[in-house]
Amino acid sequence: MVCSPGFTSRGGPTFLGSVFSFLLVLCYCVLPMLIIGTKVFFWGSEQGAELMRCGTCGFAGQFIRKTGMRFITLFFIIPTIPISGVMHVAECPQCKTRYKAQ
Ligand SMILES: [Zn+2]
Repeated sequence: MVCSPGFTSRGGPTFLGSVFSFLLVLCYCVLPMLIIGTKVFFWGSEQGAELMRCGTCGFAGQFIRKTGMRFITLFFIIPTIPISGVMHVAECPQCKTRYKAQ
């Protein structure tokens, strides 16, 4: 009796191929979502003229006025394309809660 190992079952390459294509689809669908996002960037900090009352911490006084814009970002930090108009907010100096200024 001679026992020789047979190489009859060759299911390996097709299985690996399906795993590879699955990873490929994953990379193309999921990675852009991870890289590209949106973020609102604010700049400027002038004292507001009118007195406001914060609904979060109860602070009453002059809020900080800021100007902001929503951008499409790369890697969450690099602003590339502005997708909204300029918006004005008033920020509470105590708890940093932002309110839309009208
Ligand atoms: Zn506050």
